[in-house]
Amino acid sequence: MDKILVIDDSIVQCEYLRSILCDEFEIVVCQTGRDGLQTARNGKFSLVLLDIIMPDMDGFMILQELKATEITKYIPVILITSLSDIQHEEKGLLSGAVDYITKPFSPVIVHARVKSHIQLYHYQMKFKEEASLDVLTGVSNRRRYEEESVVKWRSAIRFGLPFTICMFDIDNFKTYNDTFGHPAGDQVLATVAQAISSRLHRATDFFARYGGEEFIALCTGDDARPMFEYMTQVRRAVEDLHIPHNPAVREWVTVSIGGMTYCPRGGDSYDTYLKIADTMLYDAKRFGRNRVVWSNATMEQWTENT
Ligand code: GH3
Ligand code: MG
Ligand code: MG
Repeated sequence: MDKILVIDDSIVQCEYLRSILCDEFEIVVCQTGRDGLQTARNGKFSLVLLDIIMPDMDGFMILQELKATEITKYIPVILITSLSDIQHEEKGLLSGAVDYITKPFSPVIVHARVKSHIQLYHYQMKFKEEASLDVLTGVSNRRRYEEESVVKWRSAIRFGLPFTICMFDIDNFKTYNDTFGHPAGDQVLATVAQAISSRLHRATDFFARYGGEEFIALCTGDDARPMFEYMTQVRRAVEDLHIPHNPAVREWVTVSIGGMTYCPRGGDSYDTYLKIADTMLYDAKRFGRNRVVWSNATMEQWTENT
């Protein structure tokens, strides 16, 4: 059942809305802006019904905050108010509300509008999800990575956490395609992507196809040494799939991994650290492939011997 959050200081109003909507939706009520924002962040809501005039924060401030927060910014917000002048309606819609209902309202209209906005929200989310996946491998695609890298980098700076950029590249993959054909290569890409992705399952991990036979992971919270060691296990997991390669170049399909872990500070450039991770990957290739090469804050380099 879809959940709707009602933020309104009038308990009478809240209960009226509840009575209109509770047959089809689960209704959660908050009577202050602060409480409403907190609740919106913690619950999975499909819609917010928001009163404009409230004692602690007005509806526009709440709306602004909801739209500025990553986890709430896509939730549709309908403003409900007795203010009927056009400026408020304009202001609400320009601030990101999807609709505007003035009191007194018809229960049938409220129900119908809520229902259609929730439907649109589900279409939008489904579309967004599909648009962010790589069709071949089922992991996140480059577009999603571009968005996620900005969000993760900023949050690592804000919370002062160690941040890892890790790049993966399948070894001698051109030879694999040349030997077994492109469709078999596609199958390997999907299998390897799933093998890596299933080992990066924390909420703070992100994994995507970077392009061609290259992948990228962004992880937050762990220091360089444990990350390096964990990635050696991930590398081994790919080798242990025992996908036969062309014996002239290698026994099994393997990946080279290059990464760096560092606590970024405001003003640091993401691209500089991405380049370091890429250099580590290049070194992993240079040192013989099928290995992990890592760098830490002091630019020490660690190489796995395989
Ligand atoms: P290295 O170990 O140095 O990485 O050698 P490599 O052969 O893997 O690297 P190279 O960059 O020379 O070749 C990458 C190959 O990956 C060539 C390209 O055809 C293949 N490739 C890229 N995208 C796809 C894909 O979607 N499907 C398949 N089957 N192959 C792909
Ligand atoms: Mg490559
Ligand atoms: Mg390669």
